[in-house]
Amino acid sequence: MTEQYDIVTIGGGLAGAALAKAMAENGYRVLVIERETQFKDRVRGEGMTPWGAAEVRELGILGTFLEAGAHEPPCWQTYITTAALPARPLAETTALGVTALNFYHPAAQEALLATAEKAGAEVRRGVRVAAVQPGPKPEVRVESDRGSETVRVRLVAAADGRRSVARKWGRFESRQDPPGNQVAGVLLENLPAPEDRVLLVINPFISQSSLIFPQGKGRGRAYMIGRHDSPGRFQGEKDFGRFKQASFETGMPADHLEGAKMAGPLATFDGAESWVDHPYRDGIALMGDAAATSDPSWGQGLSLAMRDVRVLRDALLGTDDWDEAGHAYAERHDDYYGKVRTCEQWFSTVFLEPGPEAEAVRARVLPQLAADHMYLPDTLIDGPDHAPPTEEHRTRILSEP
Ligand SMILES: Cc1cc2nc3c(=O)[nH]c(=O)nc-3n(C[C@H](O)[C@H](O)[C@H](O)COP(=O)(O)OP(=O)(O)OC[C@H]3O[C@@H](n4cnc5c(N)ncnc54)[C@H](O)[C@@H]3O)c2cc1C
Repeated sequence: MTEQYDIVTIGGGLAGAALAKAMAENGYRVLVIERETQFKDRVRGEGMTPWGAAEVRELGILGTFLEAGAHEPPCWQTYITTAALPARPLAETTALGVTALNFYHPAAQEALLATAEKAGAEVRRGVRVAAVQPGPKPEVRVESDRGSETVRVRLVAAADGRRSVARKWGRFESRQDPPGNQVAGVLLENLPAPEDRVLLVINPFISQSSLIFPQGKGRGRAYMIGRHDSPGRFQGEKDFGRFKQASFETGMPADHLEGAKMAGPLATFDGAESWVDHPYRDGIALMGDAAATSDPSWGQGLSLAMRDVRVLRDALLGTDDWDEAGHAYAERHDDYYGKVRTCEQWFSTVFLEPGPEAEAVRARVLPQLAADHMYLPDTLIDGPDHAPPTEEHRTRILSEP
């Protein structure tokens, strides 16, 4: 039996749509199945750190993001409680020489899916994948209001997000961290915060951080990070006052947030990581959050998703043996996700974990950080290739003197 498509992507989110575009423009037959007819604000990532922005450039989709209204703040500003570290000009201080990329997620999704379609991918919306039969020629059952259809493909690229069901269809074993941080987010308008910088305020003494990713024109995405067992979650308009109060209590300067209005839902998510080791088997490659849902507290999900797309694309273009390509992708994924995860865990220990052990780490690390702002690994900004977490970092951060 011949395949009807080379690739089916389950999901037309940023990962699925970017892969669809990358493969369609190389002449492959690509089908995108996306259940939403119109994307809405689900409170997702809207700040991509520079290493992700470099992947976006590499994939040739920066223009798509910019046309969808993306904003490139030149600086990164960190506060440890109320003490401001020097503002960091990103293009000048990263090996990749690029800045961050902030955008309204639903607009970027719409634009990227349209770009995939323009590149030749067939995009079906308002339909969903209901099952996948793994194997050398996997089969995908697509359902809509009008009935169901089975599609044969060479490869299934499962980019179905943080609640991925494809993990189950592919018989992958999911791994899950114990509860750690929780992350609340809301889109704001009439936002007085400076637009030339990402703002990250960390208050390790109360295990909280507060972020603003400006999007230009007085809009921006604000996040509040706390521990999973911190009192209350922020859900809906009634909690917006408390959300702002918690941001101020963390150390966010009042004049950066005062007067801002909600421009979308306010919602809270558990940050515990959930991932699959070696996210390829039997004709199914997991990508983006489906492969590894990283802790949003450290803002790596979008960059990882773009890295997945590039690595999978390159593996598939490099050989006709797509089973071999799938395994090559999965091996690389384990490597770069592992580095990012290690760094995130160290950052959580230094900045967010309560208790005497974390306090002992902080007592060693914070004075060093005040003296040298590059004391910690730069993995989350400059990426796992240029700034991997090293044994030396581990010893410095975690070992008793
Ligand atoms: C609160 C929060 C804050 C975050 N902040 C940041 C941040 O600041 N920086 C950062 O880098 N990352 C952040 N992230 C993570 C980032 O949002 C994700 O990593 C990224 O959106 C993953 O993209 P994706 O394409 O893999 O998944 P998704 O965007 O979830 O896309 C999955 C798509 O698949 C579709 N779908 C699912 N199942 C089916 C099916 N069976 N059939 C058809 N379609 C289906 C869905 O409709 C959806 O469109 C945050 C996440 C959260 C929750």
